[in-house]
Amino acid sequence: MHQRAIELPFDGAATLALRQPRRFGVFACCIIAGVVFGAAGSMVGQQKASRSALAQMPVYSAPAAAPVSPFEQIEVTIRRNDTMDAIFRRLELSLSDLAALRSVPEIRKSLDRLRPGDVIKLSHLNGELASMVRRVSVTETLSVTRQAEGFDHSIIENPLETRQAAIAGGIASSLFRSVSEAGGSEQLAVDLAEVFRYDIDFVNEVQPGDRFAAVYEQAWQDGEFVQDGGILAAEFVNEGRTYRAVRYVMPDGTTEFYTPDGRSLRKAFLRFPVAFGRVSSGFNMARRHPILNRVRAHKGIDFAAPIGTPVKAAADGRVQLRGVQGGYGNVVILAHSGGVTTLYGHLSRFANGLRNGDRVKQGQLIGYIGMTGLSTGPHLHYEYRVNGVHRDPSRIKHTPAEPIPARLKADFLEKTRPLLARLDGVTSPAGSVSGAR
Ligand SMILES: [Zn+2]
Repeated sequence: MHQRAIELPFDGAATLALRQPRRFGVFACCIIAGVVFGAAGSMVGQQKASRSALAQMPVYSAPAAAPVSPFEQIEVTIRRNDTMDAIFRRLELSLSDLAALRSVPEIRKSLDRLRPGDVIKLSHLNGELASMVRRVSVTETLSVTRQAEGFDHSIIENPLETRQAAIAGGIASSLFRSVSEAGGSEQLAVDLAEVFRYDIDFVNEVQPGDRFAAVYEQAWQDGEFVQDGGILAAEFVNEGRTYRAVRYVMPDGTTEFYTPDGRSLRKAFLRFPVAFGRVSSGFNMARRHPILNRVRAHKGIDFAAPIGTPVKAAADGRVQLRGVQGGYGNVVILAHSGGVTTLYGHLSRFANGLRNGDRVKQGQLIGYIGMTGLSTGPHLHYEYRVNGVHRDPSRIKHTPAEPIPARLKADFLEKTRPLLARLDGVTSPAGSVSGAR
């Protein structure tokens, strides 16, 4: 999601509690409680003091308010280019303790990958480490405690809870801003565009007056919102035309989107091979070439997008060419069924491992937008040919993929009914005022 590099001077727990409130809920207190017990058990003479300190310790985020504890509690926010060594030196912690931690492979693995903004909680007594807690993923926390014979570690699970949410709104400017204003995340906007990508061009065709609605999953943890999950049902009204989609989990566990009556939203070809490119030059049999400055047909579509934007295979097929060819620069040509070939030119580079003769699936990454060959700026040049004859990719009517299999139809209708009912709830005039979380 939003993994921003945050660089702040270390100033203890108070700032942190404000900045990342959801990361340290009730579970953190439990961990620390366990940690203090563990540490105290191994430190002769400190046991009593620690246990009474624990009883009085209000919350971990206010360590200064636990005057009886002999341990100093520290929350370290990782800075850019930080290393554990630098952190231990900065805090004047025992370097031999760090060496001892590093000698345990599982701990070492977690300490080698420090991301700016991450938090490590430590407790120590006169520089001697007593405990360390670090979140290693959304659902896992590493807890290390000193024992008599060395450091003990365990992974604590923080399970996610899935909830259902619904959102609706109108397009004012961009899809991203409109979804965000209705209370949804950037990822939700991307997912929405993904669901309808075969029917709607979200960069060039979406305009003020269009409307969207979605029923989707959210991940929660310890009563706190973590992130938006996948879309379950969605509606998009584009230029007065309503598109609806509902998710269905196939028997093999994969998910597919269908219309409410079971037709596939997928088509054999993607409308466009880039998710968020702007059409900068259309198909034109008599265009003046910007570099050659003479009339030369533009037998494809250009999509302007930043260098490095992923380019995807428009359909299942085979790599006919991956290489350099004249004005196309770095180019990929894919061969599909029915004598169709697609061409992707001016790429900055190819997808890792892509080779001539490889099979590719629709939507698979094949390269990145660039400006190699004859190109005035970063863009993808995309061609679509049938038996060698160029066609305008934006005018081709592609056939839909298979509808829901007959044997699954009853189950499909039953399982999607409540999702569509919820969608109706947010798109009906009464419920369409704004989003809900
Ligand atoms: Zn072009």
